[in-house]
Amino acid sequence: MPSREALAADLLDWAGRCAAAGWLRATSGSFSAVTARDPLRLLITRSGADKTRLTAADLLEVDAQGRAVSTGTPSAETALHVAVVRRLGAGAVGHTHSIWSTILSDRCAADGGVELGGCEMLKALTGVTTHEQRVWLNVFENSQDWDRDAPMAVDRLGHDGPPHGFLIRAHGLYAWGADVATARRHLDVLEFLLETAARRMAYSG
Ligand SMILES: [Zn+2]
Repeated sequence: MPSREALAADLLDWAGRCAAAGWLRATSGSFSAVTARDPLRLLITRSGADKTRLTAADLLEVDAQGRAVSTGTPSAETALHVAVVRRLGAGAVGHTHSIWSTILSDRCAADGGVELGGCEMLKALTGVTTHEQRVWLNVFENSQDWDRDAPMAVDRLGHDGPPHGFLIRAHGLYAWGADVATARRHLDVLEFLLETAARRMAYSG
């Protein structure tokens, strides 16, 4: 397990990269990494932090119930991070509010998800070995009470496997991985696949 300082530096760098891509407007989004398993501790971005100017002071630690164990107020969606870590065994979780994920999650909500694939970039998802494979990205309805709804939503995924993420309707994308580097790669490629799928729909009418 990397040190708390190393994980903090990785989270700040990851959030900064996503902010630069335009996926974290107006203090949106959240990032976390597991710092200890027993008892469970997550380092997570604080609520309302501007991700373009994030510093170590914008990170705090929470426990297995999502309660702060260091000074600060954790992200309003901490329960989703905790559910992904506890139920799927992830080591790091990222959440973006990109334009394409907002559009596509709303458009595909009636189908319960969106099929992605048919391109080489799909292989950046752990467990995918061919560009011919297709993966299903679930869309969950949005909620203003994730403490109540997060466990049910994550349980619907069953177990971890490609695509290592899900969408929330007209809201954004969650993605995770065994460590920060893997979660970062999964989030990056899912954003790529979402933009590709949405643009394909737009061009095909
Ligand atoms: Zn959000």
